[in-house]
Amino acid sequence: MSSARPLVAGNWKMNGLAVSLDEARAVAAAVDAHPPACRVALCPPSTLVHRMAEVIGGTGVEVGGQDCRAEQSGAFTGDVSAEMLAEAGAELVILGHSERRAGYGETDALVAAKAEAALRAGLEPIICVGETLTQREAGETLAVVTGQVKGSLPKALAGKAFAVAYEPVWAIGTGLTPTLEQIEEVHVAIRATLVELFGEAGKVPPILYGGSVKPSNAGEILKAREVGGALVGGASLKATDFLGIVTAA
Ligand code: PEP
Repeated sequence: MSSARPLVAGNWKMNGLAVSLDEARAVAAAVDAHPPACRVALCPPSTLVHRMAEVIGGTGVEVGGQDCRAEQSGAFTGDVSAEMLAEAGAELVILGHSERRAGYGETDALVAAKAEAALRAGLEPIICVGETLTQREAGETLAVVTGQVKGSLPKALAGKAFAVAYEPVWAIGTGLTPTLEQIEEVHVAIRATLVELFGEAGKVPPILYGGSVKPSNAGEILKAREVGGALVGGASLKATDFLGIVTAA
């Protein structure tokens, strides 16, 4: 069983108005002009998913959501279901981002339920895991991360397309990055956990690294053992920065 193509996905978080679609257009034009070795995706806020899918649909850049509700519909004011994202043109969805785990109390069980919802709607989930600085300093990184993988990935993912993103919480938006040895240690542990959960099929899903990836450090991070792409926050907002990462993959 061969491993999936690397994936570089941009997470715009709560950034972006209609004018920002020009950046998506520029990414798509460059990707189509010089197809990179990796898959490329942009995950704008839900208000832009439909418009972005219209603007870059049919290009080499996929569109994703940043979260979804586990339920299909109902009295959940302000929330968006996986089906709504799919209908708007999304093909992927980020789940369990640390900003949602910390800010909205999302548990592993909830993330797993959202992953099932994503599959139900035909979306490819990118499931985020990662330790806090306190947990790393306490020597708990591998236990925390492998525990999150086991708790956040439902059995239904077996044989399906999905990705895991290792994002140390302390590296997100801080400019700090782990050493390559630290990244490899965690990615190898995640791969072993995926094989424990899914057997041979656990060797396929890409394991993205996320946390202060930029054009200047992407080359070495993306070559690290078991790193199958990147989840990029700040540096995905500008096409030139994001493309610098995409071409390094
Ligand atoms: C993220 O939030 O997923 C992320 C990786 O952010 P940044 O690249 O800005 O650290």
